[in-house]
Amino acid sequence: MADIYTDYDIKNHTTFKIGGKVKKVAFPSSIKELVELLSTDEYDYILGNCSNVLFSSDNTNKSIIITKKIEEYNIEGNIIKVSCGTKGPIIANECKKRSLTGFEFLIGFPGSFGGMIYMNASAHNQYISDTFKKAIIYDISNKKIIETDKETMEFGYRKSILTERKYVLLEAEFELKEGEESQINEIMGRNIEFRKTRQPSLKYGNAGSIFKNPENDSAGRLLDLCNMKGEKEGGAVVFKNHANFIINKENATSEDVLKLMYKMYSKVKEKYTIELRPEIKYIGDEGTKEYKLWEIMNQGNMTKIQK
Ligand SMILES: Cc1cc2nc3c(=O)[nH]c(=O)nc-3n(C[C@H](O)[C@H](O)[C@H](O)COP(=O)(O)OP(=O)(O)OC[C@H]3O[C@@H](n4cnc5c(N)ncnc54)[C@H](O)[C@@H]3O)c2cc1C
Repeated sequence: MADIYTDYDIKNHTTFKIGGKVKKVAFPSSIKELVELLSTDEYDYILGNCSNVLFSSDNTNKSIIITKKIEEYNIEGNIIKVSCGTKGPIIANECKKRSLTGFEFLIGFPGSFGGMIYMNASAHNQYISDTFKKAIIYDISNKKIIETDKETMEFGYRKSILTERKYVLLEAEFELKEGEESQINEIMGRNIEFRKTRQPSLKYGNAGSIFKNPENDSAGRLLDLCNMKGEKEGGAVVFKNHANFIINKENATSEDVLKLMYKMYSKVKEKYTIELRPEIKYIGDEGTKEYKLWEIMNQGNMTKIQK
């Protein structure tokens, strides 16, 4: 049986360390339990490691499933099978031990495979789609399990078929290449060093990049040119080394983050007539002041995952 709680404080499950109570949360510990929960139609959102999400600090009437307890994997030769809740660094280390190349970017990466495939996560010129072979997905609309290959996944920048349809990733398979252990080690070392110097550590809550890159440009570059580094709203601050990160410095609320995001969005719009779109997801109740602010920035982006 999955662990299920009501009126559950969600904050400490998120890397942002922000959020009030959600109506219901389920933590399945197997794919079977996950499918059972999905077929009930009782849940609004599916989440993995909650590293790309901002929950409202107010209590919400949303019910969510968190897959972080479904951590299973199997490696045979250069074929890697993972369940949706498995975290990137675990597999990156397994690949390093076996001299397999293709997952060097997953070292120090806080996402689960479900979240990473959903948005086609990437770093240091590697994308999760590069080594992707096939997946097993739950199709919510038709209540059935389907298998997809790489072509049907429609991977793009921060996009996959999971962002377009009511699909939940259950399991995925990847094919890596054989490499040199020393070279893999060196690349991973460089990637960790880059994260340490350019990105905030999880000592301060954050959710990774706030906005997606607009076509042929970088959100961080535009925000930097708008002098956003160090800009504050309540306890939320734009990171001093990278203008596309917001850190939760002093008990920030979701309202602080959304107001700061709106400031960032408005500055770039005013100066460059470019409307940045959020990379992070917001979970809160419709019709609230916060939700309206979110909707202005998020036009055209899917927010709801299930219904
Ligand atoms: C310090 C830090 C550094 C980061 N660096 C990077 C980086 O370099 N590159 C990068 O791309 N991202 C980065 N991120 C953002 C984040 O880690 C990625 O977006 C990651 O893919 C999110 O995975 P998650 O499991 O935490 O997803 P969640 O935050 O739990 O969910 C994110 C989205 O994925 C969907 N989702 C989750 N699981 C499933 C599933 N099984 N089926 C369908 N949809 C699902 C959710 O519905 C939601 O819309 C960083 C974040 C932090 C905090």
